[in-house]
Amino acid sequence: MRFRMEVFMTLSRNSAEQLSWALTKLKSRFTGKSESWVRRCLKRLRDVEEIEVGTWRVKGRFELGDRYPNYLVKVVNGKYQCSCHDPHKPYSRFRRRSVCSHIGAVILYRALRKLR
Ligand SMILES: [Zn+2]
Repeated sequence: MRFRMEVFMTLSRNSAEQLSWALTKLKSRFTGKSESWVRRCLKRLRDVEEIEVGTWRVKGRFELGDRYPNYLVKVVNGKYQCSCHDPHKPYSRFRRRSVCSHIGAVILYRALRKLR
């Protein structure tokens, strides 16, 4: 419950302008990404929870093609890694090649947190 509350506050503390600034920043960082990828990242924003420094949990959503209830995003040696890249998971070979929208959501989440 505490998490839900925190998310609500995260979103309400950021204005529409801040959100569009963060989205523009995300698009310029990943220029090859489609508009639908950016939209998925935005949808996942409220599903991001920082569980420890450098580690975030992103709730899985079946409507976004997720097969698991939760994904873990970590920063390892300065690079983002997501548990959907784990080699034992289906489609991981395909997914590993690109930055997934779980990571994109964490990048958005962090950009917005910095503004507070
Ligand atoms: Zn992922």
